[in-house]
Amino acid sequence: MTAAIPFDNSYVRLPPSFYAKVNPAPARAPQLIKLNHTLADELRIDARALATPAGIDALSGNAVPEGAEPIATAYAGHQFGSFVPRLGDGRAILLGEVIGRDGARRDVQLKGSGRTPFSRNGDGRAALGPVLREYLVSEAMAALGVPTTRALAAVTTGETVARERPLPGAVLTRVAKSHIRVGTFQFFAARGDVEGLRTLADHVIARHYPGAASAAAPYRALLEEVIGRQARLVARWLLVGFIHGVMNTDNMSVAGETIDYGPCAFMDAYDPATVFSSIDEHGRYAYGNQPMIAHWNLTRFAESLLPLLAPDQEQAVALAREALASFPQTFNDAYVDGLRAKLGLFETRAGDAALAQDLLDLMAANRADFTLAFRGLCGAARNVEADTALRLLFGDPSAYDGWASRWRQRLAEEGGDGAAREAAMRRVNPALIPRNHLVEAAIEAAVERRDFSVFEALLDAVTTPFEERPEHRAFYDAPPPAQGYRTFCGT
Ligand code: AMP
Ligand code: MG
Ligand code: MG
Repeated sequence: MTAAIPFDNSYVRLPPSFYAKVNPAPARAPQLIKLNHTLADELRIDARALATPAGIDALSGNAVPEGAEPIATAYAGHQFGSFVPRLGDGRAILLGEVIGRDGARRDVQLKGSGRTPFSRNGDGRAALGPVLREYLVSEAMAALGVPTTRALAAVTTGETVARERPLPGAVLTRVAKSHIRVGTFQFFAARGDVEGLRTLADHVIARHYPGAASAAAPYRALLEEVIGRQARLVARWLLVGFIHGVMNTDNMSVAGETIDYGPCAFMDAYDPATVFSSIDEHGRYAYGNQPMIAHWNLTRFAESLLPLLAPDQEQAVALAREALASFPQTFNDAYVDGLRAKLGLFETRAGDAALAQDLLDLMAANRADFTLAFRGLCGAARNVEADTALRLLFGDPSAYDGWASRWRQRLAEEGGDGAAREAAMRRVNPALIPRNHLVEAAIEAAVERRDFSVFEALLDAVTTPFEERPEHRAFYDAPPPAQGYRTFCGT
């Protein structure tokens, strides 16, 4: 019999300082909530085998599946600006890696499967709420075309976890290009372990940036690639209204995927100052701060790489500075290109960025819903009558009119087929996102009533975000203005 998960592990072959070997902890009475059959197939994983009792044991930590070599990885990180030299996987265990049908290597990780040597105070467990939240939001991000870790499966453990009150426990099986973080580099840099740093950099180049291996200066190429990947990632976040919530350097993947969904949330009404996380007291990780924070985190990444960039410290610093200086332009190009697509502009003209920014400013001043306003523009691009509903999203509907006439003039200058434009816009402006009130409703039904039907229906909707289907009608509307909506880390 072949293994359900065709493991092919590489990280565990790296030196012992990179990780601790640790087995997941058993779960009393695991039950399968959800299995991602499409993703399993892409990874050559046998989903039917995972749905059997033996498979559910593997997904819950009750058994180590054939071929897995479980480890908790070591990393450091800046948490809200303060450096912590030893963090590591405190509630996650890497089972191993698989090579997908696309030829790419991916991690298969259990999140919430018990204590590790890095757990410090925590129990290593996860509550059902955050597991469902990560499942919904990461799969929605994937469907929106944003690079992200994926959800392969969710199980309940049949046990409770101790939080402010006892909550049902759960385990998420997460798939990532890798779980190597900026903080992983910081771990070795802070210990002055240059050989470890070099080994890590070589692993990351071979795995994620093979082109850098043949560059004249491979580590410099690595730095430039990671900066570019992150700049484009954060642009994608802004274009869908996503707020990560905890952009600590240990939550920033060097592969350029969105990772570690904690108190993340999507913005309803457009406001760059939007913060949802209860622990982000000063708004460090507010929606509009995300590009600046990514740049700050990448500066920490560049600092970690200094010993590899050049033998001479001053020369290394100059190279790092030069690479970091490319961030604003790379981010801005990706962001403005994305806005242009959202506005139905196929050509590039002077004034496009200002036209988009003026709309965003009007949306902010008038508390317009970000997703609904851009979706509304799709129809309005072809048919002026669609303005009637769109205007009403603005606190002062007349605020939209002056902008709309400028936009229409710009569209007319460009010309082109209205139906084609509308269709293209509908492929980049989602009809729906996993709004906070919807995610909360799905979690509440599951936690309080063991009713997973709300989760199922919402997952179905957010994974087809560009389609308008009658059965998803209930998921489109913006909530009534939220009074201080808050997200939490582990509950
Ligand atoms: P996170 O919020 O998942 O990014 O975690 C931040 C740090 O705290 C990481 O080092 C985690 O491993 C650790 N941590 C968070 N929650 C727990 C938990 N329930 N048990 C053990 N460690 C945890
Ligand atoms: Mg984390
Ligand atoms: Mg997390």
